[in-house]
Amino acid sequence: MSIAPDRTVVLGHRFATEVPEIALRWQAEAAPDPRLLVLNESLALELGLDASWLRSPDGIGLLVGTALPADAEPVAQGYAGHQFGGWVPRLGDGRALLLGELDVDGSPRDLHLKGSGRTPFARGGDGLAAIGPMLREYLVSEAMHALGIPTTRSLSVVGTGRTVQRETELDGAVLARVAASHLRVGSFQYVAAAGELEVLRRLADHAISRHYPAAAEADNPYLALLDSVIAAQAGLIAQWMLAGFVHGVMNTDNMTISGETIDYGPCAFMDAFDPKTVFSSIDSWGRYAYGNQPAIAAWNLTRLAEALLGLIDDDQERAIELVTASLQQFPGRYSAAWTAGMRRKLGLSDEVGDAEVQQLSEELLELLEPEQADYTSFFRRLAAGAVEPPFEAWATRWRGMGPDVEAMQRVNPVYIPRNHLVEEALSAATAGDMEPFERLLRVITSPYDERPGFERYAEPAPDDFGRCFQTFCGT
Ligand code: AMP
Ligand code: MG
Repeated sequence: MSIAPDRTVVLGHRFATEVPEIALRWQAEAAPDPRLLVLNESLALELGLDASWLRSPDGIGLLVGTALPADAEPVAQGYAGHQFGGWVPRLGDGRALLLGELDVDGSPRDLHLKGSGRTPFARGGDGLAAIGPMLREYLVSEAMHALGIPTTRSLSVVGTGRTVQRETELDGAVLARVAASHLRVGSFQYVAAAGELEVLRRLADHAISRHYPAAAEADNPYLALLDSVIAAQAGLIAQWMLAGFVHGVMNTDNMTISGETIDYGPCAFMDAFDPKTVFSSIDSWGRYAYGNQPAIAAWNLTRLAEALLGLIDDDQERAIELVTASLQQFPGRYSAAWTAGMRRKLGLSDEVGDAEVQQLSEELLELLEPEQADYTSFFRRLAAGAVEPPFEAWATRWRGMGPDVEAMQRVNPVYIPRNHLVEEALSAATAGDMEPFERLLRVITSPYDERPGFERYAEPAPDDFGRCFQTFCGT
């Protein structure tokens, strides 16, 4: 438990202590008029934090980083990254802070803020965040969690009372989020590019001990670390694809070592099935389109492998041979995870062979695309026996495999945070009305339970909305 009876929160400093070279001591900026907009009570409970205390002025002080336990050591984390394929040697937490680690049954969970003011990594940025994008991250990350997809969690969003200058003046906010860690591919790139082999080893040891302790026992622990991240990311990306999720900015600084989804910027769920789907206003080439995500993940993992080379073998050629063999595991792992997920979505038992499930699934996608069928609701309708004529021949074969349609209702969501609903909730919230946000949050955090009266939450966007929807990042 992180909270003592006197309600003192204990924040560890493992990251700051073990890898001080990439941890810059820093403070959050004062919030002139902090107002709690949303608090995740069930997550607070999981973390051993008292929800009613978090709502008090002291609790809100913790959630914006201005009233920390005396021994806390908040830090801005350094990292580099490839952004849209281009190398940026120094990114880091420009507007974020790691407050420290909460101990949850012996394992550390990062408590981290976004929008807490400029840090030495801010470059030209103002260090701030607006209410809309922070509530968006809260909503989408909690939806992902409810869908069983590994992700950072959202603990709270607090309005700061500060004005943030974007295209217009907006109200500022701070998001408090929780993660297994905030280590990224870019963290390793940052240290590797500096040529600090000893620091790189400490960073890798830190990652192994937090996320993949079994790797420490392997013949080559750092190769085992790479293998573990490859396996975790292959599973994660398969889950994104199965859910129709488009991350939008899969830069190497936005890919975790833990295998959790991180940094919800211009992300969205796809309505009509189309591999070319892009929502981000800045992704004009479609680098991070829905259908490219597995290939981009493999590209990012190759950057991680490059960063780890020096630890894997003193002989560089041997190191390259070893990481190449590891990276070659990605497509097989991804495809196995995707096929296993499709098996569940289609309600098929283990008696149907993998190859057959894979083929049936791929044929389904080929039919969905020209029909512009809504991806999420297709599987619920299929389970309910509602099959449109273009899918009839395919469905006849599927029925012949003896699907369990009740099991399908437990894995195919009715409710996802559809773009038009998210926009509606955020517009109301930024105008001061949190009710639509709270209602949408309740719906998407119980995604499999169909509720009477909530029909519009299960439906795709009206025609005039869907096609031209764009999201904006960096706000
Ligand atoms: P993101 O696109 O949010 O993953 O951020 C990419 C990089 O830009 C990170 O290094 C962020 O810390 C930094 N950044 C984004 N927005 C701001 C901002 N308003 N002020 C300072 N840094 C920012
Ligand atoms: Mg980021």
